[in-house]
Amino acid sequence: MREYLKKLPKEIKSLISIAGKVSQETKMPAYLVGGFVRDLILGVKNFDLDITVGGSGILFAEKFARRLKSELNIHERFGTATLILKNGTKIDIATTRKERYPNCAALPVVTLGSLSEDLLRRDFTINAMALKIGCDSDQQLVDPSGGKDDLSRKQIRVLHDLSFQDDPTRILRAIRFEQRYNFKIEPSTLKLLNEAVSLSLLSKVSAHRLRDDLILMLKEDNPAKQIKRLMSLASLSFISSKLKPDKSTYGLFKAIGREVSRFKKIFPSNRKLDVWLIYFTALMALLGKAEINKITRSLALRKGEEKRIMSYCQMRKKIISQLSAKDLTAARIFSLLKPLSFEAIILLNATSRNKNLKKHITDFLKIYHGVRLHVSGKDLHSLGIIPGPVYQKIFAKVLTAKLNGRVTTYQDELVLIKKINRSERE
Ligand code: ATP
Repeated sequence: MREYLKKLPKEIKSLISIAGKVSQETKMPAYLVGGFVRDLILGVKNFDLDITVGGSGILFAEKFARRLKSELNIHERFGTATLILKNGTKIDIATTRKERYPNCAALPVVTLGSLSEDLLRRDFTINAMALKIGCDSDQQLVDPSGGKDDLSRKQIRVLHDLSFQDDPTRILRAIRFEQRYNFKIEPSTLKLLNEAVSLSLLSKVSAHRLRDDLILMLKEDNPAKQIKRLMSLASLSFISSKLKPDKSTYGLFKAIGREVSRFKKIFPSNRKLDVWLIYFTALMALLGKAEINKITRSLALRKGEEKRIMSYCQMRKKIISQLSAKDLTAARIFSLLKPLSFEAIILLNATSRNKNLKKHITDFLKIYHGVRLHVSGKDLHSLGIIPGPVYQKIFAKVLTAKLNGRVTTYQDELVLIKKINRSERE
């Protein structure tokens, strides 16, 4: 395994070496597990460390955090902890445990267990490997179910026949990993998956767990590929039987991908964007208002997410038709687009082929959105204008004039304010 670890960035190697020291000091064996090990072997970048400890994960985490001087979040109930380093790196630490599923699709009963038990409770063989952390000489791979072989065969395989019954969200996870790595779901696993689908096991899972896995699919590099495969293996009826994306939806997904890259070029400073929500909204736009309401409630989406979806679905037709006109003033474009989220604007742009609309959106993003007034409330105050709702009214009028090129400088703005103020008082 040493050859894999050698390729890691210096900072990650140093973190692993410190974890090794904590393991020696506490006499608790510690292992890198899950996605980190899978991606290490595949040579895929993944710096989210996942550590499992034989003993007490929380105690280990406390000592580790002290050494790293990092923030520590302890989840007593689950016996887990998360370290968040200053550069944003996340390290999840747990105690080796086993799980028992009392009945189909129910949450598991978790108790302490050995490393093998901890690995055998996992979803797929490729995610069920551990790498012992310690001195250089004993960094060995623990791979009880043949995960490394499956990685080289490029296949997703469950660890036992009841895996999908225990946790049907693994149906979505299997598809996600298969599509992400261009692997294949291994034939007997595929048979088990198909059986689980035909028993409608996904509908037995609580909505918020499905939501989390669906969001993860939409966060993948190629969500069109993910949803296409999901439709062919399971459909989206666990969300709504009316939800049937087709060729044109996948085409729209591709266009969204292009628009997101363009947006990131315009705002390289990494403006926070919920990219998954754009794809999700594109799916919701296939449905009527009542159905969307039902879905957003059953998936327990956040208020802000629900609002962004709804405002797009309700305003889409009107805004597309208005923005498709050729001659629109800057202020008009601003007033149409300003109330929308960036997610909605990107989706509008991906949805329509109208050249005028595309130009107006580009102008909004590149120019109008960043327009700021020179004047502030202080200026209004020193002109003797009494604070109140009139301030907003004046600012809106000056901004309109500025967007339309009628004022430019600080002096222009002041002159206009005086004029507006006079006419307000008349
Ligand atoms: P990603 O690269 O998408 O983050 P990951 O493998 O790191 O993938 P996580 O969801 O962070 O995925 O889970 C960490 C590990 O926990 C997995 O590798 C797997 O071993 C285990 N795991 C996660 N979800 C399940 C599940 N539903 N059933 C069984 N094991 C799971």
